[in-house]
Amino acid sequence: MKNRWLKILLALVGILLIVMIYNTLRAPKPLPDQATAPIPVISDSAAIHLSKAIQIKTISKGDTLPIDTAEFVAFRLLLEKSYPLVHHQLTRQTFNEFSYVFTWKGKNTALAPYVLMAHMDVVPVEAVAEKNWSVPSFSGTIKNDTIWGRGAVDDKVAVIAILESVEKLLEKGYTPDRTIYISLGHDEEVSGKSGAKVISAWFKEQGIKPALVLDEGGQIDLQHFKSVQRPVAVVATGEKGYMNIDLTVEIPGGHSSMPAKETAIDVLNKAILQIRARKLPGEMIEPVQELVHRTSAYESFFTRMVTNNLWLTKKLVIAQLEKTKETNAMVHTTLVPTIVQAGIKDNVIPTVAKATFNSRILPGQTSDEIVQFVKEAVNDERVVIKKQTISLMEPSSFTPHTHPAFLQIENIIRKSVPKVVVSPFLMIGATDSRYFRSFSDAVLNFSAVQDVKGYHGIDERIGINDLNRMIYFYQQLLQGK
Ligand SMILES: [Zn+2]
Repeated sequence: MKNRWLKILLALVGILLIVMIYNTLRAPKPLPDQATAPIPVISDSAAIHLSKAIQIKTISKGDTLPIDTAEFVAFRLLLEKSYPLVHHQLTRQTFNEFSYVFTWKGKNTALAPYVLMAHMDVVPVEAVAEKNWSVPSFSGTIKNDTIWGRGAVDDKVAVIAILESVEKLLEKGYTPDRTIYISLGHDEEVSGKSGAKVISAWFKEQGIKPALVLDEGGQIDLQHFKSVQRPVAVVATGEKGYMNIDLTVEIPGGHSSMPAKETAIDVLNKAILQIRARKLPGEMIEPVQELVHRTSAYESFFTRMVTNNLWLTKKLVIAQLEKTKETNAMVHTTLVPTIVQAGIKDNVIPTVAKATFNSRILPGQTSDEIVQFVKEAVNDERVVIKKQTISLMEPSSFTPHTHPAFLQIENIIRKSVPKVVVSPFLMIGATDSRYFRSFSDAVLNFSAVQDVKGYHGIDERIGINDLNRMIYFYQQLLQGK
């Protein structure tokens, strides 16, 4: 009897293995490597232009803080001076004083246009961090073939690379087939509400349906895919949602010498811990699955057996991705307290305690579901839970990786980066392009850089090589290659 069961069990395991091996063998093979050509230097002046752009302090200080308008005017003048042909031959529209859309009319108006996006504002450098910089943070220093300073990577390099590539094509008398729009925002680092949001509304009003909207986001990654042993160019095809949830507890306070058993701070504290102790179910959405498939294609047969049988191994793969905070954010909606407020004096128990949770919502889930999850986790009527509506952004839909725009970008990358693996992925942070996602299925996030450092941090910098690569990339795109 025992023997019979053992045989059945072995047979089942055998069948399972056969199915898994079959799925692994019939998985799509990676594309063969393409011959790549060295990237030519297209503009000698690009590095100087980027250096000058960094020196202008177009800082977004905070949601409600005013900007230094003189700096934004200076930035506009710099662009006018550096790119005379762009300003003569393209039309420029201004939105809310400092955001711009340039229109470069194409020869064939039947073709849907491209929208190239970038933002001109930067995050501030904290006074305490300044001393840790190797060069003054807004100096735009060029040394060791590298351009240093706030905005070198995020995102002035894109502003400069786009305009540089167009200027050089105009010098040659080139006219694109399709119309090209260049959308430059001035408030991406706060909300994009005066810039990209208004610009995207204009596109919608005009009934313009772009064949591609390209913004910052992915890049050529040399560090995070060690086991693949190849550069991995990640092109984002979707973005997580964004939401703030306020928790408020109101319990009469009093003198701190005679505390009640529970104070507003205690109740709030418990609620925070309850939320942090739980996590929303992990999910592998389409771009993440595709990333796992495309990168694992270069790994061992066993790894491929795991990644090509997600019907059985999904939980295992998710558990693996949960190990680092970057990959964890790709498979979970995150919830983290970012503001906690209570108390005005050391000997007074406050009546009100408040916390704000910032949440990045995985596509497939909704803000209402997350609020419900928080309510269930807290399970205490004394805690009033409310989502903020001002900054709320539900998660986006995806651009399919079979979309012609994705395929064109994939092709340009494969022709210019040796042995590269190109893959879709999910944007964890938010960009200006999210405003286009509500009416366009052609939004992608990618910058053709591979060795940039100090994003939002200390010693932000980019190599001249990477600046060249970006200009080259945009030129290929503009020429429909
Ligand atoms: Zn940015």
